[in-house]
Amino acid sequence: MGHPDLTAIAALAERNLDAAVAQLCEYLAIPAISCEPTHYDDVRRLAERIRTDLESLGLDNSRVLELDGALPIVAAEWLHKPGSPTILIYGHLDLQPVKGEPWVTEPHVAVEKDGRLYARGSADDMGGWMTHVAALRAWFEVAGAPPCNIKVIIEGEEEIGSPNLEDYMDTYPEVFSSDVMVLTDCENPSIEVPGLTVSLRGLMECELICEALEADVHSGLWGNMVPDVSTALCKLIARLVDDDGRPTFCAAEVPEDWAKGSWDVPLTDPVIAEGAHLIGGVKPLPTHGRSPAEWMWRQPALTVVATTLPTASIKKNCLRQQASATLSVRLAPGQTIEEVLAAMREIVTRDPPGGVQVSLVAAGWSSEGWLYTPRGPAFEAADRAYEKVWGHKLLQVGVGGSIPFVALFGRRYGDLPLILNGVMDPKTTAHGPNESMDLSIFRKAVLTNVYLYDELARAL
Ligand SMILES: [Zn+2]
Repeated sequence: MGHPDLTAIAALAERNLDAAVAQLCEYLAIPAISCEPTHYDDVRRLAERIRTDLESLGLDNSRVLELDGALPIVAAEWLHKPGSPTILIYGHLDLQPVKGEPWVTEPHVAVEKDGRLYARGSADDMGGWMTHVAALRAWFEVAGAPPCNIKVIIEGEEEIGSPNLEDYMDTYPEVFSSDVMVLTDCENPSIEVPGLTVSLRGLMECELICEALEADVHSGLWGNMVPDVSTALCKLIARLVDDDGRPTFCAAEVPEDWAKGSWDVPLTDPVIAEGAHLIGGVKPLPTHGRSPAEWMWRQPALTVVATTLPTASIKKNCLRQQASATLSVRLAPGQTIEEVLAAMREIVTRDPPGGVQVSLVAAGWSSEGWLYTPRGPAFEAADRAYEKVWGHKLLQVGVGGSIPFVALFGRRYGDLPLILNGVMDPKTTAHGPNESMDLSIFRKAVLTNVYLYDELARAL
């Protein structure tokens, strides 16, 4: 066979878009919420459904992999092009919970409105990997086969932090071995500009504890003569941040050429205000010469996620024994938990307010950050595919969050080209109410994948 007719393949993918969305809507009707044991059966039901569909697509060896105590992974492959590269496609089928969220429509009934598809999982991540199913379908139907070898894995535990993914990698290494990985669970900076994720922040939780008394005492009798741990705790937390609430410790060095990157263009104040749901009158924080992208992706950030400060329900007029706060710190890529903890400890233990006893200990979960330099023919190939469809190369973006599977793939397979893309955009509200996917992004992502396989097949 000569060179496949890409135009015909893309045209078929385009004609089949509605069918692809319809198939996606069927997946979205299954509440595969991995953090709720009552939905484990749904995760397994969806995995089996996807296994069947991948098989009928034309992939071989479509199977549901299991490990003890783990939710499943769906795997399938097509490996009949010896000498051609193998592309591994990763996505996840499990969902974030929806309980207590103010959804306008039913979260597990996909609804199309104003060019967006609303449902839990529409963009994170069911729509992401469906773009590959749709592109592969067009390749099989028009050309009889994809232009290179393909492996697909769809994970069932991403939304609970991929606790068993490394075990799967160890148990089934052949499922993961490949020449290039396309990992779809990431964001585009806008619906016009495709994103290539190249960094993650790490995450650490620590407990800041203030102690002063053996027992609670009457505030009328002892106030002004013994320390109040609650106000001391607040003062200590305040030391850790500046007036904008940003960390006073461990500012990260960012190379100047990165800091002048073009990715800032989409991150305007209105985009931030809308994406982060700021109420009227509240503006994004001042940037003080750094870009929003740098603040969100390449600098540490601190959030108070829990405290033992007195609450309205346990109000009593006393000075308390102890008060503590759980602090969540996003680490800049490259920062270690040890160095950040040491810097914070130095600030909070120096001359503490009222002479209270202060301790700061790592607690809760932590994950490493990640910083990647995309270079080489795979990325040039990807840029060509994106340029054809989006009229725009991939824009390198970071993620302010900590996606364990990305850090894991980065650590295990970082010497391979890792193309981290997806169908999310700033309006997606992944993990929140009214999650949605922009259907123009879905279309472009399907068509891009049609060209991407061909470009990668010829470039590697
Ligand atoms: Zn996801």
